[in-house]
Parts: sequence; structure tokens; C-alpha cells
Amino acid sequence: MPVIHNKRCKVCNSPHRNEIENLLSEGWGTKRISVWLKETYGEEISDKAILNHKNKHWNVAKEIKKRAAQKESEELFEIEVSKGLSRLESLKKEREENHKLAEKLRKIFFDLLENDDWKRLHPETFKAMQALYNTATNQVRYTASEEFKQLDQDTEDPFVKLMEMIANDKRKTSNDSEEAERS
Ligand SMILES: [Zn+2]
Repeated sequence: MPVIHNKRCKVCNSPHRNEIENLLSEGWGTKRISVWLKETYGEEISDKAILNHKNKHWNVAKEIKKRAAQKESEELFEIEVSKGLSRLESLKKEREENHKLAEKLRKIFFDLLENDDWKRLHPETFKAMQALYNTATNQVRYTASEEFKQLDQDTEDPFVKLMEMIANDKRKTSNDSEEAERS
């Protein structure tokens, strides 16, 4: 949707058009805006002219859409941040718990070996303990690799999307400042 511009309209030609429209969308009355313009910039635009602009040249629907989209993306960003962080957090906890379990089992094995107690254990019991140890260490490896994926490759992942969003946002911000410097 193109921005409507009227050659004879003072608001359309004002360097403060954006600010005026922002105030309109915040619900300011045209008289108040007229006074504000004069006090802030010494710019004289009558409230009637502002009203005319509001009714004829100001694209309210576009403005509302723009604001809604902006708000939505901010909210989505928040959600993605918390999703990514809580997934990482739970993976980390899982890894730590499995690591603790594997360490305890290792200690039990060493004790059994030192005292020759393992000879008194039924082979099946020993096998089961070994399987448990293997499971725990495999889980440590699995969660560690999942954590790595969270931080790196998987593009379907919310955390990766989050990192992309941060990168895009940075790029956008630096572009904006470059433009500001040029103009
Ligand atoms: Zn106008």
C-alpha cells in the first residue's frame, strides 16, 4: 500500500508527518497535536488541516496492521527466547543427572572390583548394572549432542530461529544507523 501524498496538504509535506501520524494513532486529538507542533517545532498547522489529513491521507488500516505486525513479532520473539532457553535448560539438567548416575555406578563397580564382591553377584545382575551404566553414559552423550544442536545446526529448532532473529535484528539496526549517517 503506497503512502498517500497530497501536494497541498501541510501534514503530508511536514518533516514531522510520521510523528503526527504516530500521535494520531495514539489517540491524540487534532487540536492538541496542532498546539504540540507549534510548541515543539514552531510549525504551524491548523487542527482543521490535521483533521483533513487524518481523514483523507492517513492510511489508518495500514498503520494498525504495521503496529499489530510489530507487536506480534515482538511477542513471538519473547516466546522463542523462552522456548529455546527452557529446552537448553532441561537438556543441561538431564545431562547433569545422567552424569551423576554414571559416576555413582562407576564408583559401585570400582568398589565391587576392589573387594572381589563382583564374584558373588549373579552375572545377570552384573549385566543389568552394566546396561544401566551404558544407558546413563549414552544419555549424557545424547543430551550433550542435543545441546550442541540447539546452539548450532538444526534449522527447525526454535533456538536456531531465535539466533537468526537476533542476527537479522542486528543487521537491520546497523542498516538503519548507516542510513541515518548518510542522510
Ligand atoms: Zn495530508
